[in-house]
Amino acid sequence: MSNKVGGKVAIITGGASGIGEATVRGFVIHGAHPKAYNKKLQGKVAIITGGASGIGAATVHLFADHGAGAIVIADIQDEKGEELAASIGDRCACTYVHCDVTKEQDVESLVQSTIRLHGRLDIMFCNAGILSRSMQTILEFDLPSYEKLFAINVGGVAASIKYAGQAMVKASSRGSIICTASIAAGLASDRNTDYVMSKSSVIALMRCASTQLAPNGIRVNCVSPGPVATPALCENLGMGADDIESMFSRMFRLKNDGVLKVKHVADAVVFLASEESQFITGHNLWLSFVVGTPLLCRHIGKEAEET
Ligand code: NAD
Repeated sequence: MSNKVGGKVAIITGGASGIGEATVRGFVIHGAHPKAYNKKLQGKVAIITGGASGIGAATVHLFADHGAGAIVIADIQDEKGEELAASIGDRCACTYVHCDVTKEQDVESLVQSTIRLHGRLDIMFCNAGILSRSMQTILEFDLPSYEKLFAINVGGVAASIKYAGQAMVKASSRGSIICTASIAAGLASDRNTDYVMSKSSVIALMRCASTQLAPNGIRVNCVSPGPVATPALCENLGMGADDIESMFSRMFRLKNDGVLKVKHVADAVVFLASEESQFITGHNLWLSFVVGTPLLCRHIGKEAEET
């Protein structure tokens, strides 16, 4: 059978019964009342770590667009965080908190102050992270760099899940926790070994946390973006956003309109944060695979190879 959904044409096989029938009804409702489904996070209270820049900042904007009641931006870039919070204006209650995710005390008081101010916590987006500072091949592996990176990319995520999870369990709230891993977690890379290890660890951590928090109705998932031209990647590659996008546009396996942008990652986070994903937990959502994967972590100027 076929049906029109807000201008889209869909075919649903097995649409006469069960899941198929429910989907037909859902498509009809979405088509008839698209505006009713615009606000997916109405009144929700959210914390976004690493929220002052890049993917985190785009998610702050999108959460506000989706009707979030309160957003707390947690970061170490105070000026950028304050400016972003102010730019949200009266779209929602948006505040900035200085929080270094490597300091457990900072993360604990971040969650406590959010509960004090807003009464509860519905969404924790554990997004703060850094890229490798050096090549980090195994033969040149620099342990101090690895330890610093792991403290942010893995320890910071563990602390964020721990304190958000504790608050959600205590309040018996069915919260959603989302972590930013990376497409790098699925790669055998010829460098950036510490970064690849850290993002694989984030996925392992998400799996454990989702299992342990499931009895409390708390969902834990990951987004794993491919390369996105954020300030972190521009600085790491020493290139402008346009050059990065043009370089990676040749490497994306999924041919689509344009390249992967922060907004696409934020869309995935909104989905995982919202009730549309009410029964999705323990899931890692890959965003756009790339061709010639071992080249992903190499520096500039190389053409993609089919692997
Ligand atoms: P970004 O630098 O624009 O944003 C990262 C934010 O994290 C910054 O605002 C930074 O100040 C903050 N941060 C760093 N250390 C912190 C700490 N100790 N405590 C609190 N905040 C801290 O970079 P981005 O690309 O938006 O990165 C966001 C996340 O996405 C990271 O986890 C990154 O590993 C991941 N990621 C990025 C890409 C990409 O291509 N840009 C791809 C996959 C995954």
